[in-house]
Amino acid sequence: MKLITILVPAYNEEEVLPQFYERVTSVIDAIEDYDFELLFVNDGSSDTTLMKIKNLREIDYRVSYLDLSRNFGKETAMLAGMDFVEGDALIIMDADLQDPPELIPEMIKYWEEGYDDVFAKRKSRSGESWVKKKTSKMFYRLLKQLTRIPIQEDTGDFRLLDRRCINALISMRESQRYTKGLFSWIGFNKKEILFDRDSRAAGETKWNYFKLTELAIEGITSFTTVPLKFASWLGMAISMCAFIYMFFIVIKTLLFGASVSGYPSIMSVLLFIGGIQLLCLGILGEYLGRIFNESKRRPQYFVNEYNNSKMQVEVLNE
Ligand code: UDP
Ligand code: MG
Repeated sequence: MKLITILVPAYNEEEVLPQFYERVTSVIDAIEDYDFELLFVNDGSSDTTLMKIKNLREIDYRVSYLDLSRNFGKETAMLAGMDFVEGDALIIMDADLQDPPELIPEMIKYWEEGYDDVFAKRKSRSGESWVKKKTSKMFYRLLKQLTRIPIQEDTGDFRLLDRRCINALISMRESQRYTKGLFSWIGFNKKEILFDRDSRAAGETKWNYFKLTELAIEGITSFTTVPLKFASWLGMAISMCAFIYMFFIVIKTLLFGASVSGYPSIMSVLLFIGGIQLLCLGILGEYLGRIFNESKRRPQYFVNEYNNSKMQVEVLNE
């Protein structure tokens, strides 16, 4: 029988975990012909998430868990999980029940039809503010235009991936991961299904605007060097303007003589150029920082404990 792993990154999810388990198992119990593995990645939770997972492990042999040594963030938690996936296919789901497990049978159906990446696209995003929706839309439009990769909009990490995709994804070991872009970047046969995204069942989101902005910069700088080009173009455009203005001043001085006035214009040009220079330095710095981070070649996470149905508690210190 084919084995399907359900990968659940969990960070401080003690409140929803029991509910999550109930709902997922009620769906997968009804699916015959497949074995399931529920792989929880505990991303350094500071509450009783790990204990709750261990309790589930005791009553259900399908539950496996991977306990990371600290909080590494969802992107890294997903990579860690993918490294340990046993199944022929993988379904990534959030622990907060925003991704309805009821879609799993449909995903499996398309997988059997030969699709490698069946992703769930949200029809609606309830529980999210107007500003969040609008900014996210603008960001995707920008990202798609800059990278020329067909990044999937309104799509989270909720998807079914064939073994081929998993292998492709774990072969990319960049330390600052933008998984959403990587999903599109690897290609393979993709199929979208539509669903209504619910609000969180309990607990609260770990994203704030600062983190989202960081993720946006991450997305752009890890997939394109267009901002670097933008810096050069901007520099060129401004030099051109400056040149024309210089011409104008010289002619004016020749015709009408020099006057001492001009403080406001000098000041505004100075400030403008200064701002542009800082912006360009910032863009350079963004890429330099990425080079710095990649060049350290650190392992991306450490495992505290891994336990799956085939093994007893074993401590991996790799
Ligand atoms: N998550 C994680 N590590 C983190 C933050 C979040 O593993 O540092 C998990 C979290 O437990 C949840 C999923 O990532 O299962 C999505 O998180 P959240 O619901 O906070 O994000 P949102 O749905 O608001 O995008
Ligand atoms: Mg959520």
